[in-house]
Amino acid sequence: MNEKIPTIALVGRPNVGKSTLFNRLTGTRDALVADLPGLTRDRQYGFGSFENKAFIVVDTGGLMPESADPLAALAEEQAQIALQEADLVLFLVDGLQGRLGPDEAIAKQLRKLGKPLTLLVNKSEGQTKTAVAGDFYALGLGEPVPVSAQHGDGIAGLLRELLASYPEQAAPLPLDGVCVAIVGRPNVGKSTLVNRLLGEERVVAADMPGTTRDAIAVPFDYDGHRFTLIDTAGIRRRARVWEAVEKFSIVKTLEAIERAHVVVAVLDAQNDISEQDARLLGLVAQRGRAMIIAINKWDGLQSDEREQVRYQVSLKMPFLDYAPVRYISARHGTGVGELMGFVQDAYDATMREMPTPELNKILEKAVEQHQPPAVLGRRIKLRYAHQGGQNPPKIVVHGNQTEKLPEAYKRYLTNRFREAFKLVGVPLVLSFKTGD
Ligand code: GDP
Ligand code: GDP
Repeated sequence: MNEKIPTIALVGRPNVGKSTLFNRLTGTRDALVADLPGLTRDRQYGFGSFENKAFIVVDTGGLMPESADPLAALAEEQAQIALQEADLVLFLVDGLQGRLGPDEAIAKQLRKLGKPLTLLVNKSEGQTKTAVAGDFYALGLGEPVPVSAQHGDGIAGLLRELLASYPEQAAPLPLDGVCVAIVGRPNVGKSTLVNRLLGEERVVAADMPGTTRDAIAVPFDYDGHRFTLIDTAGIRRRARVWEAVEKFSIVKTLEAIERAHVVVAVLDAQNDISEQDARLLGLVAQRGRAMIIAINKWDGLQSDEREQVRYQVSLKMPFLDYAPVRYISARHGTGVGELMGFVQDAYDATMREMPTPELNKILEKAVEQHQPPAVLGRRIKLRYAHQGGQNPPKIVVHGNQTEKLPEAYKRYLTNRFREAFKLVGVPLVLSFKTGD
């Protein structure tokens, strides 16, 4: 059995249906579209989940082996990086068009790669396996699997098979304390913050070899609390500083988010807050992780500039209402102690035990003060609640007609539970079960 969730890369020539499949697997249109320096626009990343199993999906944006266009060459290089980072490769071909020259060139590359690979014949809706597969055996990549990214045919079976040997969640790191992932775009100050946290006298960490096959974890003490840094870039201790030894990797960032109790999302106050920042933070929220937003490089800003940054944050991150925002200077250390206090609190919140009797008392009181509405003359009833999980905290509420509960009422309940259990910095997942 594997101990981490898999990264699935989608490859194939343009127009075979990669981004359609990406949307189906991640269930979202708000993918993280890479517009980082050196990354092409069309590479997308996201979390998916199927039958409780999480996975990471990367749309490589296409392999175009024979192209002489320099932009295509860059796309090609990035697609290669994605392939190197992947655990499973899905090679898409177009069942309507049949086997084309570029498919053969890609097949040749993929055979050399030597990673677990599935050949998907897309656009096969309504067709029998023998009708679509025949032409593609010649690629020499084993049994072609007919699917329809657009209509969903064959996708559930495919995922069940691909994920069979993978866990529901990445195995917990064999370390105590709060697992923290520090994420953000290149140059926002992540390494500077890491050095501030690890490079000081208080650090008791010795050099740690990789504790698992893929994640490097560095334990450290801060203000008497135990933390473990889950590395996103590959860091190594050199002299008295820790330095990044690998290039920025979105896949590693997503893996670290997966393993974290709390994510510190770093933004750069001295540069525009971009769509990319918002999307990265959106992925943290989508994965249900506790999060503190650290606006770094707060030093050296005039008060009107600070006002502007505050405004930008509220404008661009309205969906992140659960995450506290802290203003820090990793370079000077200002605000870093308080930041770690928030990390500790968010950890306590995301691991909170919510006993059933207390949950029921809060539910009862909330309903008493503000009844759910009636639907077609029948009042929606909420009967009892219990905790459904931690990291993120989940509460399951049982009743009848709960599927008709208005969003505004769900928000009301969420806020009541949040207040009662001091759930700061975490997304609370409320789900409903109807018993009649
Ligand atoms: P990409 O360039 O590989 O990312 O391809 P896209 O996902 O953009 O899809 C290219 C075209 O194929 C679009 O017009 C899609 O609507 C269409 N398409 C994708 N999947 C299917 C499918 O399963 N069946 C059919 N008939 N068309 C599809
Ligand atoms: P990373 O790519 O996110 O790891 O970013 P680095 O930690 O390498 O920092 C990028 C640049 O920002 C470096 O030149 C840092 O010295 C600078 N920097 C980092 N933190 C601060 C800060 O708090 N204030 C200022 N003014 N500069 C900072």
